[in-house]
Amino acid sequence: MTVTLFDNPDGTDEAPYLRWLSEHPGGLVVNLRRRPDPAYAVLHRATCWTISRPTLRTEGGPFTSRAYIKACATDKSALQAWIVARQGAGFSKRCAVCGPV
Ligand SMILES: [Zn+2]
Repeated sequence: MTVTLFDNPDGTDEAPYLRWLSEHPGGLVVNLRRRPDPAYAVLHRATCWTISRPTLRTEGGPFTSRAYIKACATDKSALQAWIVARQGAGFSKRCAVCGPV
C-alpha cells in the first residue's frame, strides 16, 4: 500500500494535498511535525475539516508547510508502519473532531 507524503516547505503548493483529499474521501491523513517527533502523529479522516479548511491559524491555506506535514494513505496499517519507520512511534492520538478511525 502506498503512503504519500505532502511536504510543501514554502507554502505555495497545497493543491496536490487538497487534490488527494478530494480523490480519497475514505482515506486517512496523519498530521506530523516537519521535524520528526515520536510524540506527535495525529490521525484524521480525509474528510476532516480541520485539515482542509482554511482558518486564520492556517493563514489562507498552508496545511503542509511551516511546522507541519501530512502523510496520506487509504490503508491504516500502511500509514502506521510508515510513521513508525519515520519517527519511531505510531499514532499519538486520533483527532477528536473527526473521531476514531
Ligand atoms: Zn480530524
